[in-house]
This record gives sequence, structure tokens and C-alpha cells, in this order.
Amino acid sequence: MRIGMPHTGKVYIPLKAVFQRLNSELIIPPANSQRSLSLGVKHSPEGLCLPFKLTLGNMIEAIEMGADTLLMAGGYGICRLGSYAKSQEQILHDLGYNVEIVQLGVSEHKLAGLLNLIKRLSNNASWPKIVSAFCFGLAKLRTLDKIERVVQKVRPVERVKGTANKLYAEAVKAIDNADDYNTLKKARTDYLAQLNQVDKDTQYKPLIVGVSGEIYVVLEPFSNMDVESELGKLGVEVRRRIFLSEWTKFSLFLNSLGINETAKIHKAALPYLKRDVGGEGWETVGEKVLHAKDYDGLIHLAPFTCMPEIVAENIMPSTKEKLPVLTILCDEQITKTGLLTRLEAFVDLLERRRRAGKKITGTE
Ligand code: SF4
Repeated sequence: MRIGMPHTGKVYIPLKAVFQRLNSELIIPPANSQRSLSLGVKHSPEGLCLPFKLTLGNMIEAIEMGADTLLMAGGYGICRLGSYAKSQEQILHDLGYNVEIVQLGVSEHKLAGLLNLIKRLSNNASWPKIVSAFCFGLAKLRTLDKIERVVQKVRPVERVKGTANKLYAEAVKAIDNADDYNTLKKARTDYLAQLNQVDKDTQYKPLIVGVSGEIYVVLEPFSNMDVESELGKLGVEVRRRIFLSEWTKFSLFLNSLGINETAKIHKAALPYLKRDVGGEGWETVGEKVLHAKDYDGLIHLAPFTCMPEIVAENIMPSTKEKLPVLTILCDEQITKTGLLTRLEAFVDLLERRRRAGKKITGTE
């Protein structure tokens, strides 16, 4: 069995670590590129969302590298994600690829389902080995996210633009290459120290902008044209709720103990939206309401044709809690120049709004 997987941010790093420790090969396709997108767009029905198209493109690239079994997220939520693995498998069969797609259920069975899946894909490795490999994967995930949170804070205040991104790229490589806890800990300590030492403008008070929306386009920089880096270059500090390490912590462990990380966000959204609409639609509305006072603005990332985010986009202008929101529709038509123009205009508005004591209400 040669297992391949599509990309979602840096999730390939912990998964690769898990399978390596179990002596199973995980085929990682090249990072998302124009080729992955073109392949996905060419073979997908036009109206499907960007996550479907990009993951399909990754799958074809993984197959070209020899994968015969593909891992794909699925679930029983309200959006179309639950049917994607089946549709993608059918498309791949029609293209003549003899592959099987194994669904990684994000809604059902949670931790037990994931561990059972790893057991199956690792040729029945022993449970102690699986648990140990899984814990190491989680440690990598936590380290990646810890460093990324610091990078988000350094980008807007660094004196030499690009320094944090350069260190982040090096840190990601070091974390990926770490094959024991000591090396991983060293990578974490080294890069946190280096980020701490970056020359910063300590007088500058950056605008605070939240990034919310559908989980795939929030986590996959290629799909959003690296919007967080671009905001950093414009002197904006990004706050993001969605991190994979948080998702795993709650979804795989704490939710089963009755601890619900989204309860506060759902409560905030309740006056405007009373139920789950699939994907992250409910949370998007709640984040705007919840952070109207502590953020200067919100970037809402929504894949074109994504029903949950369309619902959120239409509700947000009517909340009484005012916060400027810029919705960016992510699809194959998005261009960097267009995105930058909109970001610059948005940041300009936020700066004027801050100077005016947050009284400009134009895009709220
Ligand atoms: S939430 Fe939206 S973008 Fe994500 S899989 Fe569902 S329909 Fe597609």
C-alpha cells in the first residue's frame, strides 16, 4: 500500500512523522502550485469549491508519484465535504487511475476512528507503537503552530520585511526533519529565540485584524494567496482562531469530555444565526460579534460557492456589533494584484477608522 494525501497547510508534517515512525511510506505531493490547481480545475465540475479542486489536483500529483491509496478528510456535516471523497474517487477512476480513497472522518469516531485508520494503513502496527507515533505527530503539530503564532506577531513590526517569513520557512524545515523529541525541542527553542531577537519597531502599534472563514482556505496559504503574509507586510497583526493543533486538541480529546471550544462563539452568533449551517459559517458570524471591540477589522475567507460562508457573508452586515469585514472569495480566478489592491484599501480604511476613534462604519 502506497499512501498519498492532499495538502491542507502543514498537516503533512505531523502525518509524515506518524507514518515514518510506523515504517510506512506516506507520499507527499509537491506543495500546491498552479499545476495542482489546473489539474483540479480541469477534472472537477465547475461549481465545486476550491478545496475540492485543489485536493483533487494534489491527489493526481500523488498518484503520479506512485500512490495507490489516498487519504481524504470527510464528515457528516451539512456541507458537501462528506461526499467529496466518493466524487473524487469516481473522477480518478474515470481518468483511469486504479486508486482507493480512504476517508478520514472529521465528524464521527474522532480519536478512535483516526487511530483505527492509522492501524489499518500501517499494516497493523502494534497499539503502543501507534500511540507513540501519534503523540510525536501531535508534538510536531503543536510546535509548528506555536512558532506560527509568534511569526504572526513579528511580521507587522519587523524592521526588515520578510525576516519572520524566512525564519518560519527554516523552522518548518527543521521541525519536519526532527526525528526525536530532543531535536524537535531544540528546533522550537532555537527558532523562538531567533524570532524574539528580530529587530522590531517597538513604538509601532499594529492594526489587529482577525482572519476567519472556511477551515481549508484559512489554513492553506496557496488558496488565499498568502493573505497573512501580505497583511504582515502592510503592518497588520493577524489573529486567527483556527489552528490544527487547537482543532485536534478539542475535536479528538476535549469535546468528548464535554468541553466545547465553540460554545462562546456560537452564543455570540445566536441573535443572528441560531443553528449550524455547515463548515465554519456559524463560527464566522460569532467571531465578528465576539471581536467587534478588540479587533480593528476582519478578513473573511470564503471559497466561491461555499454555502456556509455565503450564509455568514450575508448575515454579517446586519449585526449591531460593528466591525469592518472584507470577504475574499477564493477560487481559481483570484489574482494576487486584485487581492493586494483590496487589502491595501481595507487597511487604509482601518487606519482612518482608528484615527477617527473607530467611527467610520462604511463596510460593516
Ligand atoms: S465548507 Fe464550503 S468550501 Fe469547505 S468543503 Fe464545505 S462547501 Fe466546500
